Amino acid sequence: IKWTEGRGWHDGQLVPYAPLSLDPANMTLHYAQTIFEGLKAYRQPDGSVATFRPEANAERFQNSARRLAMPELPVETFIEACEVLVRQDRAWVPSQGEASLYLRPFMIATEVGLGVRPANEYLFILIASPAGAYFSGGVKPVSVWLSEEYVRAAPGGTGAAKTGGNYAASLVAQAQAIEQGCDQVVWLDAIERRWIEEMGGMNLYFVYGSRIVTPELSGSLLPGITRDSLLTIAADLGYEVAEGRISVEDWKAANEDGSLTEVFACGTAAVITPVGSVKSTRANWTVADGEPGAVTMRLRAALLDIQTGQAPDKHGWMHPLGA
Ligand code: PMP
Repeated sequence: IKWTEGRGWHDGQLVPYAPLSLDPANMTLHYAQTIFEGLKAYRQPDGSVATFRPEANAERFQNSARRLAMPELPVETFIEACEVLVRQDRAWVPSQGEASLYLRPFMIATEVGLGVRPANEYLFILIASPAGAYFSGGVKPVSVWLSEEYVRAAPGGTGAAKTGGNYAASLVAQAQAIEQGCDQVVWLDAIERRWIEEMGGMNLYFVYGSRIVTPELSGSLLPGITRDSLLTIAADLGYEVAEGRISVEDWKAANEDGSLTEVFACGTAAVITPVGSVKSTRANWTVADGEPGAVTMRLRAALLDIQTGQAPDKHGWMHPLGA
């Protein structure tokens, strides 16, 4: 779907997957006005297909657009695009279980020009790709590297938007994590380099017995839809849930005195992933016994049961996309 200054959104088309042709002076290639989303369509027990909270993805896409000085795509148009594509590609939605059809909506500027300013032409595109179960052969805890040298996002920056630049800025730290023998980066706040923000593509939750805490939305971390859903699901299951500030020292101390019983990460791709160990320039530690915890696995099953239609959708989160 195209957007042109003075005309708005127009000319939506369903076309076969193919490379894009861009002018070398396309403004996106130089100034990175790019935003995206990620959501999954799951096969339901009756054979139909449904996606999880697409309205929330559509709203976050609008927030990202505002932050990047891009036009907002109406929520209904975003969802209609998902419906049209899934109807076309329904044979690619896996038949059951955790496997899904991953939907990737995104927007780029298409104006040609070498001056820095918001573009006056944009293109919204939706592509899809089948995604297998994230963990084959059982859920494995990840090891994390606390990034003290680099920050992902700062107050007033673009951290709360889903824009390509945030991910580009994260790659050096992710490479450092791999060099350190870890799977993922954990980002700290930009000012004190002390408060836990999030992981490379997932939000974090800390479990203290039956009390569960996730870092509050600081303005520089991404408001994950999985994170938001788990605030509700955990409360439904009887846990005491809160948003709060957790420092590196708190994490280490609570791990040592045994009050911290589990840590997990959550996001659309992996749903829920246990965090098994932590490494930093100052200290390394194993999270509790380093194994996937009971609360982590219970929340994971509860969320997946809703997404795959095994449990009642009492919050109205599932959006049918047609048979
Ligand atoms: N943080 C970042 C940086 C991410 O890229 C993602 C994935 N979208 C998340 C958190 C988790 O968000 P969600 O639950 O909406 O997938």
